[in-house]
Formats: sequence, C-alpha cells, structure tokens
Amino acid sequence: MDEMKFISFSRPSIGEEEISETLDTLRSGWLTTGPKTAQFEKEFGAYVHSPYALAVNSCTAALHLALAALEIGPGDEVITTPLTFCATVTAIMHTGATPVLADIGPDGNIDPDSIQSRITSRTRAIVPVHLGGLPCEMKRIWKIARANNLRVVEDAAHAIGTIYDGMPIGAAGTNPSEGSDAVAFSFYATKNLTTAEGGMVTTPDPDLYARMKCLCLHGISRDAWNRYTEKGSWYYEVEECGFKYNLSDFQSSLGIPQLRKQEQFIETRRKYARIYSDILSGMDEVELPAEAPPDARHSWHLYPIRLNPARLSIDRGAFIQALKERRVGASVHFIPIQLHPFFRQFANLPQNQCPASLALYPRLVSLPLYPAMTEREAEYVARTVRSILMAHTVIPAEMVSDLWFMRRAS
Ligand SMILES: *Cc1c(COP(=O)(O)O)cnc(C)c1O
Repeated sequence: MDEMKFISFSRPSIGEEEISETLDTLRSGWLTTGPKTAQFEKEFGAYVHSPYALAVNSCTAALHLALAALEIGPGDEVITTPLTFCATVTAIMHTGATPVLADIGPDGNIDPDSIQSRITSRTRAIVPVHLGGLPCEMKRIWKIARANNLRVVEDAAHAIGTIYDGMPIGAAGTNPSEGSDAVAFSFYATKNLTTAEGGMVTTPDPDLYARMKCLCLHGISRDAWNRYTEKGSWYYEVEECGFKYNLSDFQSSLGIPQLRKQEQFIETRRKYARIYSDILSGMDEVELPAEAPPDARHSWHLYPIRLNPARLSIDRGAFIQALKERRVGASVHFIPIQLHPFFRQFANLPQNQCPASLALYPRLVSLPLYPAMTEREAEYVARTVRSILMAHTVIPAEMVSDLWFMRRAS
C-alpha cells in the first residue's frame, strides 16, 4: 500500500449538498440566525425525538446555557467525569458552581456508584458524558438524580445517533420519572455532524426551552428573525443578563444536509468499527472498546483501544509514533481533567480522587474512524495496528518461568 496517503485522525464529510445549501444562504442575504436555523432545529428535534431543540454556537455554550437556565450557580456542586474534554468542566465553572469528579467504570463512562458516593447537601446536578458515543447507564443516573432531587444535563458531544433503551440520546422520555433536563450536542469539525462550529440543546421542558432561548441571545425576549411587534421592527426588550450563543444560518446550512446523512454516516462508522473489531479481536496486547447493550446503538464517534502494557514492549507514545510512521493518525480521548494544570487546584482534593481514570489514561489510543475514510483505509489501519502490536509483544514473566519449568520437566 505504498501509494496510500496519510490517513489523518479525522476528516469531515462535506458533499455537494452542503456546498449548495451554503451557497443558497450566501445568496439569500440572510446570514445569521433565521429560516435555515429554524429548519435545522425542526429537523434535529424530529431526528432525536425532542419537542424542543435550540441551535447554539457550540456544545460548550449548550452546556453552560442549560446549567445557567437551571439556575445552577455559586455554592452548588455539579458531578461529572474526569475522562472528558475540558469544556464539560469549564461550562460548570462558568456558572460559578463547583465541579466534582466521579470516577469511571469499566466501559470508560462515569460510574453511577461513584456518582452516589459524591453527593453532598450542595449537589445540584449531574453532567454525564457519553464517551465516544457509548451511552452512559442513564437509568441508574436518573434514579440517583430523582432520589436526590438533582438535575441531569447530558454532554452528548459524541452521541448524535446514539440510541439508549430504544430511544435516541436527546429524546424526551415517555416515562415522566425518567429523562434528563437538557442534552447538549456538538457540531465541531471533528464530530459526527459538523457545522464547522456549532451545537444544539434539547429539552422536554417548554419553560426551560423558553428560558434558554431568551438567554441564548442577550436575554432579549425574541430573536431578530421574529422581532416585529406593534411597535415596529426596531423594537426589542432585554429581560435578563444573557449570552451570545446563537447559531447562524450560514452554519445551519451545513447542518441540514449533514443531519439528513447521519444514518448513512453511522452505518459506515459501524461497518468500520466491525472491521477493527474483527481484525483486532483475540489479541492479548489490546482490549477493544465496549459494545453498546442490546437495546442501544453506539454512534462510534470514537474507536478507543486500550493497550495492555504487561504484554507490550512499547508504550503508548511509541505506539502512536509507529502508527504515524506507517501513515496512520491517532489521538487520545482524553487527558484526564486532574492532569491539567488549571484543574489541579480542585482535582487533587480528596472528594475528587478518580484512580480508575488515571490508570486507564496511559493505555488509551483512538484510531481514525469516520465516513470519509474508505473501507480499504479502515482495513489498512486495523492491519497496521495488529502488525505493530505483534512486533512488540512480550510474554509476561510468569509465563516465561512456566515455559522454562515445562521444558525442564519434559
Ligand atoms: C467536543 C466536545 C465538547 C465541546 O464541544 P464544542 O462544540 O467544541 O464546544 C464538549 N464535550 C466533549 C466530550 C467534547 O468532545
């Protein structure tokens, strides 16, 4: 495969539909939040089965907006996972609340038992993250939330197209005792659906939706698209100290065709994940990512393998370097929150100790997985991983002495 170009870690799938929809917006004369954003919100809500979907300019904004609209602030504690992007934690801190870290379970997602152990009289909310598109154990999280009168805001940056308990992530539950207050999605360039930069927040609650819609655009009661009152098109009123989080029509015109292609994108992601799992299964040098339970669907935003250091003569850094030399990009999701200088001030506190996340971190490598790859590239990636691992395999010490003993005995 010498002719093969470098397989970058991530690449968006932008087709003619995205280009023509964007040109249409440019020619229309309406660039910012308007009819395309309204259309995108409508189709997104239908896709995830939510009655209310609000387009915003990032997932970070969506998380902050939801927490702020739920009136979480100074003195409150919000529980989240350390194995996430920094934005999950900074969104909590921007409200003035204190983030609290709960440890991860075997699948890499937040561990409900650890959440339970972190609850104090100040706890107000839980922010679970569906890492790589694998759904968290939401039924257990909702149960803990209900028992302790806590809000739930899901970080679904990786989870558009993820199905949990037969329903899409972001759906308004049919069971009133189950469900989250809000669900935040990301449309950053590397995510399963991209608008270059962008996000969406869904909620089943009409009041929370109205509050978020107002706060999203300077706390103005109605947006510019729709601001014509008896007083005239120039009139508006500021009701609250809001933010500037609206998504433009320019970005939404990328999102509409991307959304219509999501099912096809996920099918391709699932096919490539199967190729990886088939080629890498049965190896002692590596553990494969957890599969979704039977009534769920993994969105396969990421394919994070776990190196087995006891069986390898190379570490994660050397493994990623070896992949790069063979023209395969890789990444790591994520550097645990505790290890960033800014977060150390609180992450080192006794109530934030998360040993499982620190133990997993040096083993994690995310392989490229996206619909703009070809099937041949996916096979090349998996075979390359396999051959690097096999070239650096070591037999653990106890097995070596067993072999030595067997040889002597025979
Ligand atoms: C990408 C990401 C975010 C932030 O998304 P933006 O749209 O870039 O703000 C938040 N959480 C997780 C887990 C992410 O991967």
